[in-house]
Order: sequence, then structure tokens, then C-alpha cells
Amino acid sequence: MSRIGSRLPAGVRRDTLAVREGLPASQWGEHAEALFLTSSFVHPDAETAARRFADEEEAFIYSRFGNPTVATMERRLAALEGTEACIGTASGMAAILLTAMALLKAGDHVVCSRSVFGSTIKLLGGELARFGVQTSFVSQTDPAEWHAALRPTTRLLFAETPSNPLTEVCDIAALAQIARDAGALLAVDNCFCTPALQRPAALGADLVVHSGTKYLDGQGRVVAGAVCAPAELVEGKFVPLMRSAGMSLSPFNAWVVLKGLETLAIRMQAQGERALAIARWLEAQPQVERVFHPGLQSHPQHALAMAQQSGQGGAVLSFVVRGGRAAAFGVIDATRICSITANLGDTKTTITHPGTTSHGRLTEAQRLAAGIVPGLVRLAVGLEDVEDLQDDLARGLARL
Ligand SMILES: *Cc1c(COP(=O)(O)O)cnc(C)c1O
Repeated sequence: MSRIGSRLPAGVRRDTLAVREGLPASQWGEHAEALFLTSSFVHPDAETAARRFADEEEAFIYSRFGNPTVATMERRLAALEGTEACIGTASGMAAILLTAMALLKAGDHVVCSRSVFGSTIKLLGGELARFGVQTSFVSQTDPAEWHAALRPTTRLLFAETPSNPLTEVCDIAALAQIARDAGALLAVDNCFCTPALQRPAALGADLVVHSGTKYLDGQGRVVAGAVCAPAELVEGKFVPLMRSAGMSLSPFNAWVVLKGLETLAIRMQAQGERALAIARWLEAQPQVERVFHPGLQSHPQHALAMAQQSGQGGAVLSFVVRGGRAAAFGVIDATRICSITANLGDTKTTITHPGTTSHGRLTEAQRLAAGIVPGLVRLAVGLEDVEDLQDDLARGLARL
């Protein structure tokens, strides 16, 4: 619904777009965005219906491929990412599947970081291989490996930065240049930073994919996803494919994400500050071998992360405790505030053991290649009091 106009003056800034961008209010003048929980839309007469189905007149027809609440979320997220358009999807994985299905065919090749989300590795390296798409997995941090992996059939480069759970950062501008030179497209999974900290399109990425389940919702309520891209791709490829493939975002979930976007910037700021404070504190604990957070001076890509992520490290950190898996389980089980769940991006802090949860389906070799050692614990910091969270972790650490 890109041609339906916005009431906002041209050039308004990101904080304003976050709370106000979207379709105009309905005839009733509602202030909070309406939730259009309807599967289909009614046409005034058969002639108009025929025109709409023939794409000669823009209108909502059926919520599998267009709904005013979903469209409002899409417009708002596109505005925040600085892309022309966006399409909502049923989940983050649906966003990645839609991207692959829209852009690739049998015989095509993808270059992907080996540090991306576990299900992304399974999808690109496993499921899509059955359809004749080949994927090379390369270093998260060394652009030369991406360049060396290119083939004449390479159509897509896929990156996620910072990575989960080690917060390794890849250089988006460098990868965008490699993609451009190769005639391929670069897609970036911006789940961890969100557009509040990092805007991959401004650094040259062609597509930005999201799990709306994480920080965009921000309170752990819904599963949702989105792809932000140029209008030509969204309207020319993604919407027609969505019409046939149907991994659509529910209007209710879109509405929850839409309201989450309004507080995204202040949540990312506050949760990021807490995460950095806890990361610094963990670095000083003798039972902790290593801490990973892009805001730490000790982070291998600290300078790149600060330049690429608006000077912030984000709210996810991980750390290795001495004593392997038993020690990691001990720290996790001693917490009484943190929630033991592999989800992240919530106002409630979550703690997890990546090796046996999010990365548990990988082979041992894939896990070690991704740096997921047995003593690794991941923390996705929420909005609780920092000292309470430190006390919560100190309880388990003290027993080691
Ligand atoms: C969770 C996650 C996904 C998948 O999103 P779902 O909404 O759970 O399908 C993709 N990428 C990253 C980085 C994630 O954290």
C-alpha cells in the first residue's frame, strides 16, 4: 500500500517516525492504530472488485497479502530502517525463507557467515540444498573469505551482526562492496541491533531481515518477522510470492510489533547500558574466563562495532565460565531473576546455555567452528536493576 499517503511532513526524524509513521487513521479518527482483525475486504461492486484483482486500483483484498495494520507496521519499520519498503512475515525464519525463495533458484549460490542463527544455518545449508541452492559458510569477521567464496552463480550474501551468542561483528560496508562487485545482493539480519542502533541499508546492504519476535516486539509476546528492501523488490518479487506462499504476518502480531516500535529506541538505549555495565562487572570476576560484548574495549571488533552501531554494543552479551558445561549450568540454575529461555529481546533478562539450546541441533564440529564452547552462557539483558542482575549471577559464580 505504498501509494497511500502519509500525513507527516517530509523530512521528519526517526523518533517521530517511530511513533507516528503508518497509514492514515480510519473514518472514525482513532488515535491508537486500529487492529484490522479481518481476513478479507469488501468491494463496493463487481466492476471495482475486478479492477482491484487486476491490480488496476490499489486496495486491500485479502490479509494473506495485504492488511492495513500489517501495512502500518511495514511502513513504520521501513522508515526506521531507511528502506523504501518492507513486508511483514509470520516469523523471522519466514523472512529469511521468503528472501531466499524470492531471490534464488536451483543452481544459485549463497555466501553466508558461519556464525548466523542456528535455524538460518539449517535452512540455507540443509533445507535449501534439497532445492539445488548451494551455500558456502565463511568467517564472520574476515571479508577476504567472503570474496574468496564467490562463484559465478553467487546471487546472495547473508550476514547477521553482531552474531549470536558471541557478538562477533562483520563489516557491513565491506560486504556490501563485495556483493556489488560480484553482481550479488547483500542481506543483513538486523535482529540484535535493530534500526535503533544499526541501519544496514545506509551502509550498502540491499535487504534487511528481522525477527520481530525479539526487540521489535520487545516484550516477548509474539512471533513475527519482516524484510526491508527497495520497493522494486518488495512489490515486484516479495508481495507476489507472499500471495502464493502465504507465510503472512497476522494483523494481531503486526499490531503488537507496531506498538513495540514506539519504544524501541529508548529500550535499546536502556538495555544496552545495563548490558555494558554487567559485561564490565563480569570481566572482573575470577570465575569468568572471557566476556563477549561489542562495547568492551577487549572485544576484537570494538572499533568497527562502535562505528557501525551508533556507538553502542546492544543488550546481548555472553561469557565463558571456568569449569565447562557443569559450571555454566550451575550459574544458570542459581539465578532467581533471570528467565531460563533461549528467547531474547525482552524487557525481562533471559539466560541460556547456547550449546544445548539455540545451537543444540548443530553437530559438535559445527558448534566448535562457531565458537560455542561448553562453558558459554548467554545473557540478553532486560530492564531490571543492574545490581539485582549482578547479584543473581554472583550467586552461581560464588559456588564455582
Ligand atoms: C530469533 C532469530 C531469528 C528467527 O526469528 P523467529 O522469529 O524466531 O523465526 C533469526 N535471526 C536471529 C538473529 C534471531 O535471533
